Amino acid sequence: MGAGNKPLRLVFTDLDGSLLDHYSYRFDAALPQLQRLREQGIPLIPVSSKTRSEIEQLRTELDHREPFIAENGAAVFIPQGYFPAQPAATEARDGYWVRRACQGRQHWQALLAQLGDEFAGSFESFAQAGQAGVMRMTGLDEAAAARANEREYSEPLQWRGSESDKRRFIARLEALGARVLQGGRFLAVSGECDKGEALAWLRGSYARAHPGRTIRDLAIGDSGNDRAMLEVAQTALLVRSPVHDFPPLARSSGVIHSTACGPSGWAEGVAHWLETPPQQQQEFA
Ligand SMILES: [Mg+2]
Repeated sequence: MGAGNKPLRLVFTDLDGSLLDHYSYRFDAALPQLQRLREQGIPLIPVSSKTRSEIEQLRTELDHREPFIAENGAAVFIPQGYFPAQPAATEARDGYWVRRACQGRQHWQALLAQLGDEFAGSFESFAQAGQAGVMRMTGLDEAAAARANEREYSEPLQWRGSESDKRRFIARLEALGARVLQGGRFLAVSGECDKGEALAWLRGSYARAHPGRTIRDLAIGDSGNDRAMLEVAQTALLVRSPVHDFPPLARSSGVIHSTACGPSGWAEGVAHWLETPPQQQQEFA
């Protein structure tokens, strides 16, 4: 490998519970390593269940200029002009090249409307609840509730019916082509997409923009919805959580487990990865 052919390193990171503290949403402990990534020109790519609007607010705080992945892999947002050419299968919108992996929110709302009579009174979606209802359901203040409700590819809902009706409801939605994710408090209705598929697609775009360069990527996460991306990256960093165990992974090599939680564990793992000589890291082929 010649000097002009250094590997291109990429960091894909979950936000809540990984870069951001589970309780306070702060990331102070990660600042020195964030600065190090910036100095070394290593792109940091947020990959989150959060909406574009929520991630954009964090990007402003971080002065972040790289691509990001929103709504659990449903969409990849690349600042226009970031790559020499617009990646195939993206649309130019609001200053981004946007690649989406599933149908838009209205599609999922229409499916829910189809089931509205059969399951009347058993659920309330964010769209039905409106701004005040989302504030009540989430406990967020007005601005944060508005950002959380600016979903483009999924519809969250609160289930109020029985467990047996819920199973029947989920089966009906799945038969209609939806995927239903059970979160802590809400069910999210969306399509077949995940963080791993989105990571692989964006990594492919970096590879095409940097022909001949080897890519060495790190995926960072703390919970079940990170598993797909933790499996597909060259190196996986599992960040310890104060509230649950590490998610199980099928892979055994190339995995870093942090000892500290949240952003402290994030910083610990990133430092370890940066300090591991490239020849000791597996190549992504
Ligand atoms: Mg997380």
